[in-house]
Amino acid sequence: MGARTEPIRDLAGDLSHVRARQIALISPQQQEKLSPCQMNCPSGTDIRGWIAFIAQRSKLGLSTEQAYTRAWQRLVEFNPLPAVLGRVCPHPCENQCNRGAKDEVVSIHMLERHIGDWALAHNLPLPQLVGKVNDASIGVVGAGPAGLSFAYQMARRGYAVTIYERLSQPGGMLRYGIPEYRLPRAILDGEIQRIIELGVELRLDCAVGKDISVDELRRRHVALFVGIGASHPLLLDIPGEQGPGVLSGTGFMACINQHQPVEVGKRVVVVGGGNTAIDAARAALRLGAEVTMLYRRTRQEMPAMAEEIDDAMAEGVDIQFLAAPLEILRECGCVVGIRVQKMALGEPDASGRRTPRPVPGDTCVLPATTIIAAISQQPDWRGLEALITAAGTIRPDGGGQIADGLWAGGDVAGLGTVTSAIGDGRRAAEDLHAQLTGEQLPAPKQLEVITAASMHLSFYAPGERVRAETITMASRYSEPSAEIQCGLGEEQFLAEIGRCLSCGSCLGCGNCWMYCNAHSYEQSKAPKPGDYFIFNQASCEGCSKCIEVCPCGFLSKSK
Ligand code: FAD
Repeated sequence: MGARTEPIRDLAGDLSHVRARQIALISPQQQEKLSPCQMNCPSGTDIRGWIAFIAQRSKLGLSTEQAYTRAWQRLVEFNPLPAVLGRVCPHPCENQCNRGAKDEVVSIHMLERHIGDWALAHNLPLPQLVGKVNDASIGVVGAGPAGLSFAYQMARRGYAVTIYERLSQPGGMLRYGIPEYRLPRAILDGEIQRIIELGVELRLDCAVGKDISVDELRRRHVALFVGIGASHPLLLDIPGEQGPGVLSGTGFMACINQHQPVEVGKRVVVVGGGNTAIDAARAALRLGAEVTMLYRRTRQEMPAMAEEIDDAMAEGVDIQFLAAPLEILRECGCVVGIRVQKMALGEPDASGRRTPRPVPGDTCVLPATTIIAAISQQPDWRGLEALITAAGTIRPDGGGQIADGLWAGGDVAGLGTVTSAIGDGRRAAEDLHAQLTGEQLPAPKQLEVITAASMHLSFYAPGERVRAETITMASRYSEPSAEIQCGLGEEQFLAEIGRCLSCGSCLGCGNCWMYCNAHSYEQSKAPKPGDYFIFNQASCEGCSKCIEVCPCGFLSKSK
């Protein structure tokens, strides 16, 4: 490939068909590919797309402020809580970032946080979709991220939306689970307020199934979205569990987050390995206790976010891996310790994770004043039994529908994360809107995923991933609510934005246009991210040079 092949002109005839065949073999095509960040984002956010408005602002003729606004508007098409998600998301988008093949993956979560904070500071309203106001009234049960995302997507499409929330403030686990030092409440309040300002009615202190029945809601609304989360803690199911001194992770965090007094004594043992367990351990540390965590597998299998595990250990949480609780020990009714069983990993189970098995005879006792059980949660269906199957579950289809007029998503459909809850809410809203309008949902684009092997990474300047400051250990204790992770400065933000490779989408570098001897590329008069040059196939000589110099893999051989 690469050498130009000219057809040999035969005096006897027209060789245009030969030429056409050669072009068909080696002619380039401008073909958008799926970036790994978007592929791995459970909320489906067009990460590359929103970053492009800022990274390519001069080529797009945008001022910095215009570029930030356009970027944020593209982002919130998928996720109305970017400042929140930039802080708490485990950022699976970064797992396969192609930049990692050059130096270090792009810090997408910090970029998202920065643009989210910028929009809050500039009071940007969430954009309404243009269109007629719909008469249909929609009900939402639960004001967690799933319900808020769904409500937002319906409200921006012009529907009248009412959210019923059993607690006195909206946010679900964002408010009652995740601690303030990871998610300041001013940020959460600001992003929720913007959704409410779209005209969403929020009925607080209204438990569906208790204060109002599902039947009544079904009479009031043409459709309901159920986003009640999974707040009911699972028990350890070991002797000594019943009685004072044993708390659930979610119950403990709800007390901490509402600033209610909670007595844990000097030694706390937290059982579990997820985000709830880590948060509970770090919160107990801030109450002055010595904290040990028990996790029955190894660090590798731990579901909590890696950064959170590192932070917990740096703060002084002792994590015992391959350790499971056997019995809670009490004296005069008070917790005095926990018997611990040493585990070893056996064969992989159905989920592919290796099953922990007890090592016979290998047990020990840890002294403890409080045990916090943070192993898992399930939905609290009390009063909502009519919504579930005989097996006690719900089974949403691909669009989140569980029955006629009923949709569901978020943790109620299976424990997940904030980003998956936001994605579920959006997909359910799109599905419902399509049903109400009779419009077909656009078929999902079937794009090839682009890997670093199909790109030319040497084109890009090297650059280290930004690292934001954190507050000191001393201030974490003196001001337990202060946010630990600081944000990026403006220069850092722009430098990190500039590290995005725009994998699989034209970034307007102009290489194709410069290297094309046949002048087959023309600059677009109305450039857009991914769309800077118009390719004229008729004049293409098929040398494929443009493909060789296209850094991002947007140009590839036509198939
Ligand atoms: P929820 O957030 O639980 O919201 C459900 C809402 O429904 C609540 O407001 C609830 O009060 C309301 N509700 C329930 N029943 C009724 C009823 N009958 N009537 C009316 N309202 C009702 N995920 C991450 O991505 N990153 C993290 O760092 C992270 N940390 C976590 C830390 C903790 C301590 C916990 C508990 C969870 C954490 N998660 C994290 C998980 C994440 O919070 C959840 O996946 C997410 O909040 C699920 O959203 P949801 O809307 O489905 O449910």
